[in-house]
Amino acid sequence: MFDTLSDRLTAALQTLTRKGRLSDADIDATAREIRIALLEADVALGVVKTFIARIKERAKGAEVSQALNPAQQVIKIVNEELVAILGGETRRLNLAKTPPTVIMLAGLQGAGKTTLAGKLALWLKKQGHAPMLVACDLQRPNAVTQLQVVGERAGVVTFAPEPGNGVGDPVDVARRAIAEAKHAQHDVVVVDTAGRLGVDEELMKQAADIRDAVDPDEVLFVVDAMIGQDAVTTAEAFRDGVGFTGVVLTKLDGDARGGAALSVREITGQPILFASNGEKLEDFDTFHPDRMASRILGMGDVLTLIEQAEQAFDQKQAEKAAEKLSSGQLTLEDFLEQMLAVRKMGPIGNLLGMLPGAGQMKDQLAQVDDKHLDKLQAIIRGMTPAERDDPKIINGSRRLRIANGSGVTVREVNDLVNRFFEARKMMAQMAGRFGFGGGGGSKS
Ligand code: GDP
Repeated sequence: MFDTLSDRLTAALQTLTRKGRLSDADIDATAREIRIALLEADVALGVVKTFIARIKERAKGAEVSQALNPAQQVIKIVNEELVAILGGETRRLNLAKTPPTVIMLAGLQGAGKTTLAGKLALWLKKQGHAPMLVACDLQRPNAVTQLQVVGERAGVVTFAPEPGNGVGDPVDVARRAIAEAKHAQHDVVVVDTAGRLGVDEELMKQAADIRDAVDPDEVLFVVDAMIGQDAVTTAEAFRDGVGFTGVVLTKLDGDARGGAALSVREITGQPILFASNGEKLEDFDTFHPDRMASRILGMGDVLTLIEQAEQAFDQKQAEKAAEKLSSGQLTLEDFLEQMLAVRKMGPIGNLLGMLPGAGQMKDQLAQVDDKHLDKLQAIIRGMTPAERDDPKIINGSRRLRIANGSGVTVREVNDLVNRFFEARKMMAQMAGRFGFGGGGGSKS
């Protein structure tokens, strides 16, 4: 669903990672890109404005200018603000202290209410509840049968008006259903209501009457994420006409731009509780703002990684190393220090696994294991301080001594020393090219 948005946001942020320090102009340019990406994804203008203002304000502040890696800080800010727009904490379903919990569904026709009733019933059942569905959509032909079918598929009871009783009064059905739920000890009641193709007063009044009759613990506004900007107007109409306590986004599997998902919570002030992403009853789950944000930013779990790095690295030490690195003066002692700092963050496989795209690199990742790092560490520790400081003095007899002392072959010592020289040279060249760190050219 968020593919285009995701691509554009990632591209905008990636431009930053190629820079060292960030100027206000860099931040403004990125903010502009993000703004266009959001507007093209159909996010409501007001929401975009607030979002961009927050990003700019924070990105131009101290948390970025004094950061070790300003670009990553900006990414972190964008992510945090995205999570905030999506509602912050995951909001769980409110269950009544004295059952039954009553959940009423409201929304336009075709939003996916009836399907949702089945999904919710199955989900609740899996959690050990005994839900009952109630058919209060007595207008649409077949609506009652459709609910009965999804109820059967979910393996739950559906309460419906007796056939042949005329159109029936949905408020009366709702009232009788609650009594029946109490009697048959159903602890959750899901009330499906009638929708219309557009918002109209009669629809709102009927929904409000049902609401008053059943006194729901939750009124869930069900909205098709594919309807774009209209989602916002519809949400406002339902908020004013019926009122709701939470939002369910449906059809997130579609290829629409997804702006509804990003606007509805901010505009109505009500949290998104669930997301539906398919026609099958299983295509449904709790909505987690943080996971959705990560997904939109295509970031894997980079945030956890950044947070762990912040805790593990001593900024002064890291700056010193960066400077030495860029001037080609990095020693094996520095290398050892940095390696130890990285390893403080946890097993290396876990760290690499958090990187975006890690899934596709499983084979390569398997080779970078902690045992290999243990070996490197042992070899460096087997060197004298003078050797670590200036690896060039490590001649044949020193290599043999180090190998024997650290329990590895001479070839492994050679490998480490040669790779270190190569890496140092490459890093210094890169530092020169991209202008990070203090010095510039290569000295080795
Ligand atoms: P209602 O009028 O609000 O009760 O909407 P329905 O539950 O009848 O859903 C309308 C149509 O949308 C049906 O064809 C459903 O199969 C389909 N639908 C509902 N939820 C989803 C979803 O998450 N993804 C997809 N692809 N289709 C859905």
